[in-house]
Amino acid sequence: MKPTVYQEKSFRENVNLVFDIAAATLEIEDGLAYVLKGAYNVYQVRFPVKIDGKVESFIGWRADHSEHKLPTKGGIRYSPQVTQDEVEALAALMSYKCALVNVPFGGGKGGLVIDPKKYNDDDMERITRRFAFELIKKDYINPATSVPAPDMGTGPREMAWIADTYMQHRSEDINGLGCVTGKPVSLGGIPGRTEATGRGVVYGIREFFRHAEDKKEACLEGTLEGKTVIIQGLGNVGYHTAKILEAEDGAKIIGVIEHDGALMDHNGLSVEAVNTYNKEHGGLKGYPDAQYFENGNSVLEEECDLLIPAAMEGVIHMENASRIKAKLIAEAANGPVTFGADAILRQKGVVMIPDIYLNAGGVIVSYFEWIKNLSHIRFGRLTRRHQVNQNDLLLQAIESGGHKIPTELAKKICLGPNELDLVRSALDDTMREAFQQIRERYWSHDKIDSYRIASMAIGIEKIALSYQDRGVYP
Ligand code: GLU
Repeated sequence: MKPTVYQEKSFRENVNLVFDIAAATLEIEDGLAYVLKGAYNVYQVRFPVKIDGKVESFIGWRADHSEHKLPTKGGIRYSPQVTQDEVEALAALMSYKCALVNVPFGGGKGGLVIDPKKYNDDDMERITRRFAFELIKKDYINPATSVPAPDMGTGPREMAWIADTYMQHRSEDINGLGCVTGKPVSLGGIPGRTEATGRGVVYGIREFFRHAEDKKEACLEGTLEGKTVIIQGLGNVGYHTAKILEAEDGAKIIGVIEHDGALMDHNGLSVEAVNTYNKEHGGLKGYPDAQYFENGNSVLEEECDLLIPAAMEGVIHMENASRIKAKLIAEAANGPVTFGADAILRQKGVVMIPDIYLNAGGVIVSYFEWIKNLSHIRFGRLTRRHQVNQNDLLLQAIESGGHKIPTELAKKICLGPNELDLVRSALDDTMREAFQQIRERYWSHDKIDSYRIASMAIGIEKIALSYQDRGVYP
C-alpha cells in the first residue's frame, strides 16, 4: 500500500484559507477582501552586531497588516525559524484578533532570526537595541503608529531595552513609554501583563464552560473542576494557563509537553514543580515524579478533556489529527491546528476554541498598558480611595438598619480595587463578551460551522466596516 501523502499548506496559506471561507459568509467587496488578506507593508532589515570581536549579521522584519486603526500592534518574535512569510501571516492574525475583541489597533508583527539561547545577556541587549534602532529610524516603533510587544522568545526584558532605546532617540516624545507594551512594571508596564495571555486563555475556556449547549457539542459537562488537561509548551503562555487552571479551577494537568519530551501523571502533575524542574534542567527529562516520554508529541494523542497547544504553529496537522482524543482543543498558541487538521478534527466531533479569540489576552492587556502610558497615571489612582469611602458609607447604612454584615465579607466589600484587580476583571469582561459574540454567530448562521470561521468572520467584518465608514474609496 502506498503511504498517504498529506498536502499540508504553509502557515500563511492556512490563515488565508480560513479568511476566504469566513469572508464568503459576509457581504464585502472582493477588492476590499483582497486588501484585508495581504500584509499592508513589511520592512526587512539586515544589520551587523559585533559578538566576541567578530561581526555577525542579523535579519529581521516588521510587518503592518491593516492600518484601519493605529497604532498597529503585535509582538516581536525571536526564533531561528522566523521568516517574512510567518511574520506577515502573524500580523494578519493580529488584525483579526484585535478587531474581534474590540481592541482599537491595527495588526502588526515583528520577527528576528536568532536563537536567544546562543547569546549571553549583554549580547542580547546589544542585538535588541540595534534591531530596535533600525525599526525606530523607519517609524516601525512609535507610540502613535506601531507598538510592539513580547512574543515567542522575548519578554519584559527585551521590551525595556526597546523602550529605553526609543526614549534615547526620541526624548522629546512625551508618550515615549507607550512605544512598546509588556514592559516591566517599574518602567511603565502594567501589573498582570505577563500572565495576561495565559489568564485570557483560562477566562475564554471558563466562558465556554458557562454554556451548556456548547459544552454538549464537545461531550463535556459540569465545570473545569477535575477536568483532565494536556498542555504543550511551558513558556510564558503555557505556564500561566496551566498554573491558573490547576490553582483556581481545580483542573488536573495530566500531561506537559516540552521540546525534549513529555511528562504524564493521571493523578495530576504539580505545574509549579514541573516548571521549576524544566527551568533548572533545561528540559523535562529526569523529572522524578511522573512518566517521561522521549517522543513528546505522542502525548498530544493521549486521552484528555482539554488539549492546550501553547507553543508553535502547526503542531496538530493532517498526519496526527485523526489520532487526537481530546474533546476540546483550546488554542493558546497562534495557528497550532492546520487547516487540513481542522477539517479532520471537526469530523471527529472535536471542538476547537480558536487562537484569534483565545490568546487575545496579551494584546487586550497591552491595550490597557498603552492607555496607561498615554494618560501618565496608573489606573485607579484618582478613584480608589473615594470608592473605599463610598463602600464604607454603604456598609454603615446597611448596618444602621440592624443588619450585621459578617466581618470577612465587610472587609471584602470595603476594599478598593488595585490596578491588578482592574486589569484582571477588564480582561475577563472582554473575553466573556467576545465569546458571546462568537457563539451567537456560530449558532445563528447556517454557513458557519466552527468557532474559527465565526471568529474570523466577525474580525473581518469589523475591519471592513471601519474601512467602509471611513470611505477608503476615492
Ligand atoms: N504577542 C502577543 C500576540 O500575539 C501580544 C501582542 C501585543 O500585546 O501586542 O497576541
